[in-house]
Amino acid sequence: MDIFAWIYFAALVIEIIIRAPHNQKRKQEKVSEQRVTIQERVLLGLLSLGGFLIPIVYAVTNWLDFANYRLAAWAGWLGVLLAAGAVFIFWRGHADLGINWSPSLEIHEKHELITRGVYGVIRHPMYASQWLLAIAQPLLLQNWIAGFLNLLVFIPFYFLRVKAEEQMMVEQFGDQYRMYMQKVGAIFPKL
Ligand code: SAH
Repeated sequence: MDIFAWIYFAALVIEIIIRAPHNQKRKQEKVSEQRVTIQERVLLGLLSLGGFLIPIVYAVTNWLDFANYRLAAWAGWLGVLLAAGAVFIFWRGHADLGINWSPSLEIHEKHELITRGVYGVIRHPMYASQWLLAIAQPLLLQNWIAGFLNLLVFIPFYFLRVKAEEQMMVEQFGDQYRMYMQKVGAIFPKL
């Protein structure tokens, strides 16, 4: 395994460590609404395939070697930079969203609309972080399958998820969320 593949897995491990305490804490929250579609379950399954299982196969077997490519060193380091940015935004997103975080679309009994911290810069920092890592992946895992599968699945996932999430947030928070959408960009800060 080369250094860039190690760095990809290091980013995943750091994200798991960042998420773990939030996952524990949210179990005490009472959920008042949950929206999970079959479509989303399938895409989430494919995301763990592209983000985790296939990269492991790429790293520990030679089965995918036929699809390897080699990039210049600077491209790998650009991947490292993007992955570091992804981990940083992921961390800030969890810190600011706190117990309002959930892996699927949920509203908790004590749900609070967060518009401060990194949520004052963009509305979807965790998805922005996922974009960054998915874009870094083909630079770090230099293989047509292990590098690109995640991005291929994430593109439809992102658009479906954001549409459903914002609809849920508007139903829950009404004009407060509509105003927030006007002021703050989705994954790019508004100038
Ligand atoms: N889209 C956000 C959050 C992802 S976690 C991001 O990319 O960072 C998904 C959950 O976060 C959803 O169930 C929703 O209830 C909650 N959520 C999303 N935006 C929020 C906000 N601004 N304040 C509070 N909860 C939010």
